[in-house]
Amino acid sequence: MLGAPGAGKGTQAALLAERIGMPHVSSGDLFRDNIKRDTDLGKKAKKFMDQGALVPDDVTIAMISDRLAKPDAADGVILDGFPRTRAQAEALDKMLAKKGGAVAAALYIDVERDELIKRLSGRWVCSQQADHVYHEIAKPPKKAGVCDVDGAPLVQRDDDKPQTVAARLEKQLPPMFEVVDYYADRGVLNTVEGDKPMEAVTIALLHCVATAVPRPNGDTKTTAASNGRTAATPPAERLARSGGR
Ligand SMILES: [Zn+2]
Repeated sequence: MLGAPGAGKGTQAALLAERIGMPHVSSGDLFRDNIKRDTDLGKKAKKFMDQGALVPDDVTIAMISDRLAKPDAADGVILDGFPRTRAQAEALDKMLAKKGGAVAAALYIDVERDELIKRLSGRWVCSQQADHVYHEIAKPPKKAGVCDVDGAPLVQRDDDKPQTVAARLEKQLPPMFEVVDYYADRGVLNTVEGDKPMEAVTIALLHCVATAVPRPNGDTKTTAASNGRTAATPPAERLARSGGR
């Protein structure tokens, strides 16, 4: 699952996972889980996170690899938050190839930059109670700039200001586009318009999954016919190989 911050990637990944009965593997959750269980990988990751540094790819890849080795992942997973860079996408391909698998579909939720800024910067917080939180689009106060509960003025944190958000996106978007291009080159990219209501986005994503994900009973007819893509390896075979060892 690919998408910029604010595109709704995490929410949609969770919804998809529930609808199609596949594990939702979020890299953020994996980090937290490994750190909580104090695994070797968790210890390594924590060391970098404590310094405010990015966790190196080899640590991240190892965590993903561990997760994919669990029985519930045998038929595939929905990856969320990974890969973040082209190097990670290449490493993921190598890792999956070793397991006899491959990325069946890259689902990209496409939201325009201006819309992302609106979504990410619309947060306002009550100056009296920090848990009175509003959002210009998602949860506007009845009167602009005033808390519904206690009438206190609303303030915007620096982090939530449009210019801060825009500067952050300036750094976050280019690596993501590299990953999007990487999967486009491999013929597995599915782009879904993310400006639509949440349910419409979910339906569009489900359609992409239905036409791309290998099916347990070898029913591959719909796969090739409905999306016009040709897979180098028939999905059913991919599934058989990723599951059996
Ligand atoms: Zn308030």
